[in-house]
Amino acid sequence: MTHDHDHDHDNELDPMAARVRALETILTRKGLVDPAAIDVIVDTYETKVGPRNGARVVAKAWSDPAYADWLRKDATAAIASLGFTGRQGEHMQAAFNTPDTHNLVVCTLCSCYPWAVLGLPPVWYKAPPYRSRAVIDPRGVLEEFGLTLPADTKIRVWDSTAELRYLVVPERPAGTEGFSEEKLAGLVTRDSMIGTGVALTPEAA
Ligand code: FE
Repeated sequence: MTHDHDHDHDNELDPMAARVRALETILTRKGLVDPAAIDVIVDTYETKVGPRNGARVVAKAWSDPAYADWLRKDATAAIASLGFTGRQGEHMQAAFNTPDTHNLVVCTLCSCYPWAVLGLPPVWYKAPPYRSRAVIDPRGVLEEFGLTLPADTKIRVWDSTAELRYLVVPERPAGTEGFSEEKLAGLVTRDSMIGTGVALTPEAA
């Protein structure tokens, strides 16, 4: 399988990333930008705007069996129908959690991630420890995220590439009968769509 990279690398800065970093350094030194303000913007895209797209996809799949079926068969089209398209989200596959199988997404080689539905990848997703250990010891990694699965639950690990990105569809929490899609989307965390977490219960939300 080829693993072409049309996105940022952590090990070596591409010319654009190097230019951005140089620019940020100069602007900061001149007092024109506040790095803390930039951090807030990055955090917004990492944890708020981006993952809300994926949460809407999951909530719709929970609410609409026909949409769930479409998402299972052609995630790229089903996701695009909600307007979530573009770079790093061209070819999508949905991995549905079931009572006996939990799905976990990683990019072992770098940081391929479905930007269109999850925004920017969290730092840990790009870090070597997660990338190597998610494959070798997924159960241990999940425990570090505070997620202890029953011993008989199978864990399926999906290795992303530049060609194919995965979205985990967590199980719908109990006690959510009659919830609107909007209310359901509020239960869908970023980590539950990577597989390092599960959806929130109504009580936890
Ligand atoms: Fe990658």
